[in-house]
Amino acid sequence: MWVKKGRLMTSDFANLGYPCRSCGKIIHTGDLCDSCKRQLNKDFEAFTEREKEEEERKRGKTYYTK
Ligand SMILES: [Zn+2]
Repeated sequence: MWVKKGRLMTSDFANLGYPCRSCGKIIHTGDLCDSCKRQLNKDFEAFTEREKEEEERKRGKTYYTK
C-alpha cells in the first residue's frame, strides 16, 4: 500500500520534477540535484579525511605520552 502510494506520487510528479532537498532546484531523480550530490561527496570526503587526521593525532599523542 505504502509503496504503491509512493510510486503513484513519483509518476505524478515525474514530468514536473520536484525540488532538490538541499537547494530547491527542480530535479527528476533522487533526493538531490547533481551539484548538491557532488558537494555532498566532497563534504563526506573532507569529513573522513579529518577523521583520519584526528585518529592519527590521537594515536600519536598516546604514543608519545606512553
Ligand atoms: Zn541541490
